[in-house]
Amino acid sequence: YRVSTSFSTQLRDRLAPPLWEFLAKASEQAQKRGWHLYLVGGAVRDLLLADPDETLLLSDIDMVVDGFHRSADVGAGVELAKALQNTYPEARLEVHGQFQTAALLWHLDPVLDSLWVDIATARTEFYPYPAANPEVEASSIRQDLYRRDFTINALAVRLTSPRAGELLDFFGGLRDLRSRQIRVLHANSFIEDPTRIYRAVRFAVRLGFQLETQTERYIRYALDSGIYERSLIQNSKAPALQTRLKAELKYILQAPYWKGALKLLGDLEALKCLHSTLELDDQLWKQVRLLERCLRRFDPEKTLDHWQMRLEVLIAHLAPEYRPKVAKNLQLPDDSIKRLQQLDLDQANVAESLPACIHPSEITRVLKQYGLPTLILIAVQSQRPIRRLIWKYLTQYAHIQPPLNGNDLKALGYKPGREFKQMLDHLLAATLDGEIRDRADAESFLAKYYPL
Ligand code: ATP
Repeated sequence: YRVSTSFSTQLRDRLAPPLWEFLAKASEQAQKRGWHLYLVGGAVRDLLLADPDETLLLSDIDMVVDGFHRSADVGAGVELAKALQNTYPEARLEVHGQFQTAALLWHLDPVLDSLWVDIATARTEFYPYPAANPEVEASSIRQDLYRRDFTINALAVRLTSPRAGELLDFFGGLRDLRSRQIRVLHANSFIEDPTRIYRAVRFAVRLGFQLETQTERYIRYALDSGIYERSLIQNSKAPALQTRLKAELKYILQAPYWKGALKLLGDLEALKCLHSTLELDDQLWKQVRLLERCLRRFDPEKTLDHWQMRLEVLIAHLAPEYRPKVAKNLQLPDDSIKRLQQLDLDQANVAESLPACIHPSEITRVLKQYGLPTLILIAVQSQRPIRRLIWKYLTQYAHIQPPLNGNDLKALGYKPGREFKQMLDHLLAATLDGEIRDRADAESFLAKYYPL
């Protein structure tokens, strides 16, 4: 499994100096205690993939401590994190006792992003003899890596000596990096953890890799087995899984490559994980594209969560009775759940009322009761004539104001009161319909309908 021993030079040359120094300090602390320390996961992958001249700006580092022989050391990761916090007192320490992992978060260097370091303790089996048996040592880091998702994410670099800088590649990760394949480590991987389907798609699209043929078969097999519908979505007793599924979905839907990823999820029929009836058919794909046009046009400042709107369009494609449940399962915020719950009625109301509207004021009266997200959801699902009216409302009518406001009415001698709202509505309607173009028009309008 040992592929290269030159990694320490590579690391030193490629990492920003403060990062390299941090790794050196961490390995020194581990070494002092007789432990092994490994850099694992995405950092190793990205290091191997990056251009050799590029300085890597890692913001997320995963490490594993291993190789100890006393059960008292099971908290090694946490102990190491605490020791490092002494060296970096600005770092915030989080301990996840149950999994014997610790995280450090801080701003290592002003020019770098904040750094997030996870330190896990490899599950080690304890043997009665104290001598360091390399087979045993290697087996616990191997076990740790075997629990990971894909071969390209299951590479490790040893940071401690002896053999510091050695790349550990037990599962052919390097080969898969070279041939650009996403490959799982074992057949049950997706059954064990469905979020890996979404992760496979995310890495494939982001890195421009292929899903390895057998891996794709495992995905389809896992989806066909229907286990997600039963265990994940319809069973709200699985909140941990749902939280992770939502996190993966969010990650995908807010990434610059979200469209390609969604397409691949659709091709794999992996939207089934959200609901057994959800498919990325032509109609849904068209709605997704329309949504993008709406978001670009009506929310360029990104005041809405665009990833969430994408998810809402997917959910809105389901039969109305399923929408709120799926939204709840995915732990969407209350306003979003409510919007999806109401959507059916709102849509029916718009479809019924709009065709009869002739004047802009009538269209505005129907549509102004709805927020932008609801209007967008209705627009993408509606036939063209309705969609055009909503578009017209959002681009033009919604921005029109009458030339007079409440203060102007007061200045003209009207007494503030309940009638004001009616007068202002009336003024707005006349302005929308082009009867009032300026202040003078507005004043004559008032004189005609509301003589003092
Ligand atoms: P990114 O650059 O997108 O953060 P990453 O590889 O660092 O990529 P993380 O989600 O931060 O991804 O996960 C860190 C590591 O933990 C992965 O490289 C992988 O080895 C492991 N991992 C994460 N999620 C899973 C999972 N669901 N199943 C198995 N292993 C996982």
